[in-house]
Amino acid sequence: MRLASRPSGWPTPENFELAEVRLPAPAEGEILVRNLFMSVDPYMRGRMNEGKSYTPPFRVGEPLDGAALGEVVVSRAPGLAPGDTVTHRYGWREYAVLDAKEARRVEEIPGVPLSAYLGALGMTGLTAYVGLLDIARFKDGEAVFVSGAAGAVGSMAGQIARLKGASRVVGSAGSPEKVTHLVRDLGFDAAFNYRDGEIHEQLARAAPGGIDVYFDNVGGEHLEAAIDELRTYGRVAMCGSISSYNATEPVPGPRNIGLVVGKRLTLRGFIVSDHPARLPDMIAEVGAWLREGKIAFTETVVDGLENAPKAFIDMLHGANTGKMLVRLAQ
Ligand code: NDP
Repeated sequence: MRLASRPSGWPTPENFELAEVRLPAPAEGEILVRNLFMSVDPYMRGRMNEGKSYTPPFRVGEPLDGAALGEVVVSRAPGLAPGDTVTHRYGWREYAVLDAKEARRVEEIPGVPLSAYLGALGMTGLTAYVGLLDIARFKDGEAVFVSGAAGAVGSMAGQIARLKGASRVVGSAGSPEKVTHLVRDLGFDAAFNYRDGEIHEQLARAAPGGIDVYFDNVGGEHLEAAIDELRTYGRVAMCGSISSYNATEPVPGPRNIGLVVGKRLTLRGFIVSDHPARLPDMIAEVGAWLREGKIAFTETVVDGLENAPKAFIDMLHGANTGKMLVRLAQ
């Protein structure tokens, strides 16, 4: 799947183009992988724009890329054999030839689908884990608010907070079904639909004693509401600001930013790829919770590479619960 053109505002299917190409046979040290799943992620919207970001932009006329999970079909590299399952960064295609050093072999955890390595046990899980524990420095007994809480990262952040002893976990999401899912399936103490009314009022009702940590996936009005409700010495993990990813003009910042001083707040941004050393810790801890059934993980799966652009655009609109994935082969 190639980038056909750069979007202005919301992306459309016309920004994407499906192409069929002949792959070279793998050279020494390379593998041929048949992709089973690929990930669509909010950060890809930024890569569709021209200009510098923390990841290089996609190039018009060139294939897109992103996280994928597949089966090794041919290996010319020691340590990997046909039949092995690997994760790598050549998504948005059905087959990939790549340097074996770019692939990571993953082991099946009984009862957990391999696709979890693109979600709960992959970048998504690591983002939630690092954001909550290392960036926001969450401590046992604190009250946590998570926005985008029914999405991939948010659903993990809220559950990790619960399992690590949060006094209260509050989430916000964009539909009544998602709000029910947060409380019933994921064990959030309270949740609200941000489309239902003023976010600040809803947050104050859901967290009457205030919050210590805000895990920000959304930015905008959510961030402003959280700054109002944070207690002294509160911390914010600035993970993403999806409410502005399709804006065509710069969006205004929180009007109450002055409160950061008096309340001694810390607002700290982070990028998950800076924290690879925490991956084994996250996989050990979250993997054990998954095995023991203590953590729920949800996926929304769309079939076929031809439907990947729609899956991506639908994810930006909130069609997913949990991790949005595209299945490329059975
Ligand atoms: P999600 O699975 O959460 O999917 C995106 C969700 O965003 C949608 O389901 C939708 O849910 C919500 N959304 C869309 N528009 C708005 C809006 N205007 N206001 C509130 N919510 C909105 O994606 P991820 O879990 O992959 O990513 C979540 C966030 O984390 C993003 O901001 C992303 O950029 C960031 N991120 C940051 C990383 C880092 O290293 N810092 C790494 C990975 C992700 P709803 O129905 O609730 O509106």
